[in-house]
Amino acid sequence: MRRPAVALLQGYVQITQTFTKFVTEIQTPLSQSDGRPSHSKGHMNRRTFSKLAAMSLLASRIPKATARTKAREIAITMDDFNWQNAVYQSASDRNKSILKTLDSHSIKAALFVVGRNLERVEGKQLLTEWDKSGHLIGNHTYSHQNLHSPTMTVEEYTNDILRAERVLSEFKQFKKYFRFPALREGDTAAKRDGVRDFLAKAKYRIGHVTIDTDDWVITSRLTERVKSEPAANLKPYRDFYLDHMWDRAQYYDSLSNQVLGRSVKHTILVHYNLLNGLFLDDLISMFKAKGWQLIDAEEAFSDPVFSEKPKVLPAGQSIIWGLAKANPTISRTLKYPAETGDEVVEQMKKLGL
Ligand SMILES: [Zn+2]
Repeated sequence: MRRPAVALLQGYVQITQTFTKFVTEIQTPLSQSDGRPSHSKGHMNRRTFSKLAAMSLLASRIPKATARTKAREIAITMDDFNWQNAVYQSASDRNKSILKTLDSHSIKAALFVVGRNLERVEGKQLLTEWDKSGHLIGNHTYSHQNLHSPTMTVEEYTNDILRAERVLSEFKQFKKYFRFPALREGDTAAKRDGVRDFLAKAKYRIGHVTIDTDDWVITSRLTERVKSEPAANLKPYRDFYLDHMWDRAQYYDSLSNQVLGRSVKHTILVHYNLLNGLFLDDLISMFKAKGWQLIDAEEAFSDPVFSEKPKVLPAGQSIIWGLAKANPTISRTLKYPAETGDEVVEQMKKLGL
């Protein structure tokens, strides 16, 4: 109800899956399906033929973009690199766990680093591990500034970007990709266009998110729990996390089809936190099990959608959401993403998490 487009899409997917299963069944000799030898291999009776014809007709009515079974593509993009908040796992163990997971799936993520996290030598050592592993290292400002703060100016903000660049430049995998803290791209036209102009002149590309998530809310509740009860069963947190991420992925993918008529190469937002120290492997495995293809972050950023500059105010959030907001027809029914995280907190409270 809340997301009719998702329901519609799921309906199409179900029809496609049923059709595919049916075709597979009639093509599979009985000897394979029930162990008995088949005498009717390659033939079909009239009832089977009618059913097939009906299904073909149904399939022909499915819009082309969804009827094609091209896998959705998704890359992992991780924000902040706030290693000093490690709990439950040590900073070093968490770093190893995340890198090992990415490596085991043979993917290169993008890590958007807040420059001040490199002030201590431990931070530099941990980031060196990312550098050696070949992941993209991007700029997330030096001190995680909020562009929407009434006192923030374009000059102060862009100086903070340059300050981060100076500390990040020593890493081989640093590339000029910029992610806006809290995905806030300007609450006035002057700030929005001023920072966009600066980034273009400095040859930065914007490392947009396509799938916005509230993993930071879930991790903060998980952190409180393990602090008060270290032996707590964490599986319900894992399950909640996976459901949340899948729900958001479907929402933004459906919105992408609505706005652009296609599924973009997605960049999902996750943070460098306990949740991903523990469950990143489950997250990636879930997407694979659902038929999505994991791709490298740089490949995802090659999608033309990342060059879009929707003229909306306030600017920011998922690039897909920004484009939807700029579209007068779609924006009327657009649900504002749960940026405050309140909705997720309520859901978790209901489940006792
Ligand atoms: Zn951030």
